[in-house]
Amino acid sequence: MTVSEELFTRAQALMPGGVNSPVRAFGSVGGTPRFLVSAKGPHVTDADGREYVDLVCSWGPALLGHGHPAVLDAVHRAADKGLSFGASTPAEADLAQLVKDRVPAVERLRMVSTGTEATMTAVRLARGFTGRNLIVKFAGCYHGHLDSLLAAAGSGVATLALPGSAGVTAATAAETLVLPYNDLAAVEAAFADHGNSIAAVITEAAPANMGVVTPGQGFNAGLSRITAAHGALLIIDEVLTGFRVDPGGYWGLTGGAGGAEEAWTPDLLTFGKVIGGGLPAAALGGREDVMNYLAPLGPVYQAGTLSGNPLAMAAGVAQLSHATADVYRQIDSNSLALSTALSTELDRAGVDHSIQRAGNLFSVAFGTSSGGVHNYADALAQDSYRYAPFFHSMLDSGVYLPPSVFEAWFLSSAHDDAAMNRIYDALPAAAAAAAGA
Ligand code: PMP
Repeated sequence: MTVSEELFTRAQALMPGGVNSPVRAFGSVGGTPRFLVSAKGPHVTDADGREYVDLVCSWGPALLGHGHPAVLDAVHRAADKGLSFGASTPAEADLAQLVKDRVPAVERLRMVSTGTEATMTAVRLARGFTGRNLIVKFAGCYHGHLDSLLAAAGSGVATLALPGSAGVTAATAAETLVLPYNDLAAVEAAFADHGNSIAAVITEAAPANMGVVTPGQGFNAGLSRITAAHGALLIIDEVLTGFRVDPGGYWGLTGGAGGAEEAWTPDLLTFGKVIGGGLPAAALGGREDVMNYLAPLGPVYQAGTLSGNPLAMAAGVAQLSHATADVYRQIDSNSLALSTALSTELDRAGVDHSIQRAGNLFSVAFGTSSGGVHNYADALAQDSYRYAPFFHSMLDSGVYLPPSVFEAWFLSSAHDDAAMNRIYDALPAAAAAAAGA
């Protein structure tokens, strides 16, 4: 028995499924989850002492790799001064300023601790500001585990093939309209039918929880136009993409001033993952008039004992300060090289697939080469059974991938040539395993 097997047995007797977040249980790929004990740079090490090149990066936060010296140093120094005060601290405004500098649409920012809290607050705020009840979301987009947005969510909901979640009341579900992604006509139709009742449209800036899906040219701008025309708000969820695909997130890359597409402005944005440098921090921000509806200025209540936690703020400030243009250039170029190498090996092994991209985020979808994945129906129709043997072959070769085909592969600026070469060396056997599935 391996140490991970022993630890998993113990954990299962103590925690539901042995985990504190479902996808960690390796449910869709099978086998024993690796219990990780340390991480440094591009590597994680499990309880059996095996080192892996990490392509999960804590599901996104580790933009600079694990244990970046500047981030660790900032956290150590903050810890020496106190772990939590439950009062305002200077570092909160430091981090808010860094966010505002990168994403000018953020006129005001509120720090919270998780991405779920950020989207939950954004939804409540949109309802409070507009006085309307309905929220539009897209099938396959994941925004955290708040009741109103679990319908047709991606991520673990897709991995476990759940229709949504038990425990969400019919009344709550009835206030969420779920539409197909990349379909502006469906959005127009929903607004034609319910325009006066829709508080907000929420969308991932680029979906990465049904695998990665590229927003069609002008899709997000179209959402902005339609919501504005009907007095509804547009909430752009950048929890996963924010500060990862570009200093300004996916919006900065595409719809911000100087972006690749026509410029437009979100009403609200949500952030998480990279913003906390590996500690629990997340945020929502946007239009001043909307954000000022939050307590204590406005009638929409929101609070948090650990919000703006000084360690998390210190980690976030250090990480964003070190996320230079070079960091993004390196991640972009490694992402392109790796996704291209992956595609080449799958072609060589005769495995039908598409590489799904949004900036430097990518994932692989199997059996979809005729058109790729553009929405949740496409994502669910793929040959997802090919992923488990692919995943385990990579794991055996020392590469730690997300344990689900519906998740993006995450790189960091600590992935140097040696780490990348270990991944390249592992690809041929994994492609052959996928072919044999
Ligand atoms: N929004 C998006 C786009 C996400 O990817 C996630 C988490 N993967 C969340 C929200 C929820 O964040 P958290 O897990 O921190 O609650």
